[in-house]
Amino acid sequence: MKKYSVIFCFLLATVFVGVPSFFAFAGEQGTLGDSQVDYVFEESTGTLTLTGTGATPDYTPKSLPPFAAHRSQIRTVQVEDGITGLGDNLLRQLTAVTDVQLPDSLRTIGSNTFFHVAALQSIRIPAGVTGIGSYAFAACSGLTDIQFDNMAGSLQLGACAFIDCKALTAAQFPVGTGFGQYAVGYQDEDGRPMTAFTLRGLTGTTAQYYADAAAQITFDPALELTQGATFGNTFQSYSGTDWYRYTPTATGTYHFYSMGSVDTVVRLCDSSKADLGQGSDDRSLYDLNFDLTCTLQAGETYYFQVTNNHSLGAYTAYLYPGKVIGFSAAFPADQVLVTGVDSTARTDSDGQTYAYFDLNAFTDRLQITITYDTGDQVTLPLTEKNYNGHVFSLTDDQVAHHWTEGTYTATLTWGDQTAAVPVQVHTHVYTAQRTEPTCVADGQILYTCTCGDSYATPIAKLGHTAPATHRVEPTCTLPGYTYDYCTRCRAHLSDTVSTPALGHDYTAVVIPPTTTEEGYTRYTCRRCGSSYDANYQPALSYTVTGRAVAMESTDGSHPHNYLLVGTTIELGDESVRTGEDGTFSIAVAPGTYTLTVGADFYLCRQVQVTVTTQSVDLGDVPVMAYDLTGDGYVNARDLVTLQQYAADIDRGDGAYERLLDFNGDGRITAADMDGAAGFIGAGKLDESIYD
Ligand SMILES: [Zn+2]
Ligand SMILES: [Zn+2]
Ligand SMILES: [Zn+2]
Repeated sequence: MKKYSVIFCFLLATVFVGVPSFFAFAGEQGTLGDSQVDYVFEESTGTLTLTGTGATPDYTPKSLPPFAAHRSQIRTVQVEDGITGLGDNLLRQLTAVTDVQLPDSLRTIGSNTFFHVAALQSIRIPAGVTGIGSYAFAACSGLTDIQFDNMAGSLQLGACAFIDCKALTAAQFPVGTGFGQYAVGYQDEDGRPMTAFTLRGLTGTTAQYYADAAAQITFDPALELTQGATFGNTFQSYSGTDWYRYTPTATGTYHFYSMGSVDTVVRLCDSSKADLGQGSDDRSLYDLNFDLTCTLQAGETYYFQVTNNHSLGAYTAYLYPGKVIGFSAAFPADQVLVTGVDSTARTDSDGQTYAYFDLNAFTDRLQITITYDTGDQVTLPLTEKNYNGHVFSLTDDQVAHHWTEGTYTATLTWGDQTAAVPVQVHTHVYTAQRTEPTCVADGQILYTCTCGDSYATPIAKLGHTAPATHRVEPTCTLPGYTYDYCTRCRAHLSDTVSTPALGHDYTAVVIPPTTTEEGYTRYTCRRCGSSYDANYQPALSYTVTGRAVAMESTDGSHPHNYLLVGTTIELGDESVRTGEDGTFSIAVAPGTYTLTVGADFYLCRQVQVTVTTQSVDLGDVPVMAYDLTGDGYVNARDLVTLQQYAADIDRGDGAYERLLDFNGDGRITAADMDGAAGFIGAGKLDESIYD
């Protein structure tokens, strides 16, 4: 069972008197078991509505349907069309119910279904019901009136179906009813009779046998006519007589007529069954049914005696208020006749094809409302064309004026009366909307009319194209893969197959260190150019060192180690000056260089230096340094200059002091002058002394 909502708004309803009813709505709805029947209980109206198709589930006294919790609140039970069966105990002990409406679709009522529905006074059983279960209406203590829409039909009453219905003192059942034990007229299943009970029925039917077997049951050999219900019987002997009784509440014309295969005759009788001299035998030469129109007085009781005229078989009989003073007819508002669907093609006298609507094919939906002189109104479908002595016929002007779109008028004729019947006609005009198919989904052309009607023509799906192959080659670092695909929708049509990454393919280039930069090995991938460096070597730090001294003899000797301080030393692009101790140091890369010592002297000295894998110490580099005049000769002029320098030294200008200390005693003396003179006496010197 599904329960959807229970909304109680007692507080709201109490505080705000007069609040609109929808604020105070309370109720419950759900589905009965696993059936196709839903229920709605609306508390504000006390109405229980059952909708759906088929039969409800059966229940037991200990397991009742969910709405039974509201048994004191349910006053009306509305069973909607489509439901065919009411299960056991379904409405058991709904003691507040006074009104039950049952649908034409109903076929069976189960056991105990209405057990002790104590406030119910009257119930109308639809024509299609053929079975009422045991104890179905047992203990319905308020029930006084049971009406059957089809009194000509057959019905099986279960045992004790109407037992202990204290107020039910008289009843009639369809002529073909089979009565279960104690079905009606008894107080309990022990067979205790009611004090008095009248069972009305036709002579010779099962009702008479049932009544004859019980002392307390009086058999009344007549059926009470009710308007709209079907009566009738089957004559199985040539001397049959069926009595029908009627007490009109309004004075007027009434019409009692039969349909069927047996030749019937009717006589109108008074309340004591005395013939009033009115009757009917054959409707026409070809229709042997009776067809009586008569005037009846309100409050008087009449009998209609129906006999068969040398003929056997079944008939049905109907009572209607007899004089029709007007009628109207209409199709339901949603009845629209559609060209091509509800029509057939015809050709008119001009040879034009048009759509013809055969209205007789739709008359089962035509509702006719008939107004009688008694004031009664009856609404019925046009299924009984032969009604009350005249034939309904529906005519129209389609042949002259073809129907295409809009509301047209047909004419319903009955006797000398007519009624206009509006007929809505529609011709679809479709617009097409195309949805293209894809590889895997169908497309369609959807045709839609402004009325909302539509239909679709499918377009078959295309299916995938022949597979194409997508290939991605592996790289040094990424795997490759390949798969097949549809060139239209790109869907993969195969598994993806991977190829491992290739890995780098390196070549090594050794970059040697320089005096300023580290050396290293650079590995570069032949395929992708990716590279990295490794095997770093420290930068080269070789030096060329030496000491610049003054040459004191043409053989290059320099016993006094006269240092050349501040002398320019050049090697390649490098240029330094000797320090206070005459030394120099120049950083170099391996290679062969020309070292120039004493570049600021005329007879400077150039030495070839080759550096390979280690520093080179040149030791003392003697330089001929006494060409003081710079004329390429060491001679008397240089001596004079020297003497001049000595004089300068004596004056305290000691720039050349050390240069002139030939004997190394730390002083410039005459002995030094002699030494210098001896040296200078060597004559002209030239660069060859460095070879
Ligand atoms: Zn349409
Ligand atoms: Zn595809
Ligand atoms: Zn690579």
